[in-house]
Amino acid sequence: MDAQLNPTQVDVQRRARQIAREHLAPRAIARDAAGEFPLDDLRRLADAGLMGVNINRELGGLQAGVVAYSLAVQAIAKADPAVAVTMAVNNMVGEVLSYFGTPSQTSTLVPKMTSGEFSSGSFCLSEPGSGSDAAGMLTRATRTTEGWRLSGTKAWITSGAYAGVFLVWAQTSVDGDDQGISLFIVDSRLPGITVGQPEDKMGQHASNTVSLAFDDVLIGPDALLGELGKGFRIAMMALDGGRIGIASQSIGIADGALEWATKAGLDRSARCADALEMMHARVEAARQLTLRAAWLKESASTNFSRQASMAKLMASEVANEVARQCVALVGPEAAAYDHPLAKLLRDARVTRIYEGTSEIQRVVIARDLIRHGVA
Ligand SMILES: Cc1cc2nc3c(=O)[nH]c(=O)nc-3n(C[C@H](O)[C@H](O)[C@H](O)COP(=O)(O)OP(=O)(O)OC[C@H]3O[C@@H](n4cnc5c(N)ncnc54)[C@H](O)[C@@H]3O)c2cc1C
Repeated sequence: MDAQLNPTQVDVQRRARQIAREHLAPRAIARDAAGEFPLDDLRRLADAGLMGVNINRELGGLQAGVVAYSLAVQAIAKADPAVAVTMAVNNMVGEVLSYFGTPSQTSTLVPKMTSGEFSSGSFCLSEPGSGSDAAGMLTRATRTTEGWRLSGTKAWITSGAYAGVFLVWAQTSVDGDDQGISLFIVDSRLPGITVGQPEDKMGQHASNTVSLAFDDVLIGPDALLGELGKGFRIAMMALDGGRIGIASQSIGIADGALEWATKAGLDRSARCADALEMMHARVEAARQLTLRAAWLKESASTNFSRQASMAKLMASEVANEVARQCVALVGPEAAAYDHPLAKLLRDARVTRIYEGTSEIQRVVIARDLIRHGVA
């Protein structure tokens, strides 16, 4: 892995930092307090190419690679983690579409996601009764003479109330035979879709999280994404990449917390200096792990699943610990609900849950370690 950023990566990081500094940071607290979905900011990110960082140019992306993507998410999350998760999910959905879609599916949809015509896309895997155990999903797609009929409920769907397109995983039946889990592209405006009330989360209020009910939704034969019955494998591959996004978001949160703490005029006691040094070192360790996972995905030479899980596990734990310690170091004013540090502490919690909980990352790492050994 190259220790130096290349000119493309520097350029992407600069674009993200500029939007973060000029547009996201100044309104982060107000956006959170109002629970305002950041439509204008998402448009700005799209104009800068950041809604498709690792997507080919002919589909409107920057084609700048996964390391550049991680750097961009880190910079955006430092200013506002809620905007970063919305951006990360859009990038993830766009990548799945461009990787597994037919030329017609990709050319119809991906440019709408990279250009900002769709404010976002949604990744619809979890259900009220299946999160970690995603294979236990109940949503079903049944083949009809004209396509598919989709029924079921998805839960905790990021950007679900605003997305132009949903990627929906479902058990599939063809002529009464079970075909396993497949993946479908669903136009978010179709009749039969009911969007639930936004979840009242402890943090990241400017991101949108809803349930989606599909009640006999009719989708065409061309809605199948990838092969029939191969959807679960696609979900696992997408989540490996998604974990790099959430690791990057976590690092941005930790960077933001450290910056607030160091600006807060802390006393110069040895205890305080020790805490800051240690936190900084841990954030840098998590950053290197994350950039290595990004580099492995980008170089496509290796299975990067274990590295992505290690990055997500470490970075999310570090973000939570750093935010907690920074609140403690700065003192009582940082514990006020709308103080930037309190916000980052609230925002950090969910990084240990979505794209696979910390416990699930431990299972993934241990299984891979037992199967393939240490190196
Ligand atoms: C804000 C937010 C946004 C989200 N966005 C999306 C989205 O866009 N799309 C989407 O599909 N999902 C999304 N999710 C759902 C998220 O991925 C799930 O919440 C997560 O996978 C955990 O599933 P669960 O909530 O069903 O918990 P469960 O799977 O029921 O887990 C409960 C607890 O048991 C532990 N546990 C479960 N299985 C094991 C095991 N085998 N070994 C050890 N411990 C275990 C878990 O770690 C956890 O602590 C989002 C969630 C949140 C909170």
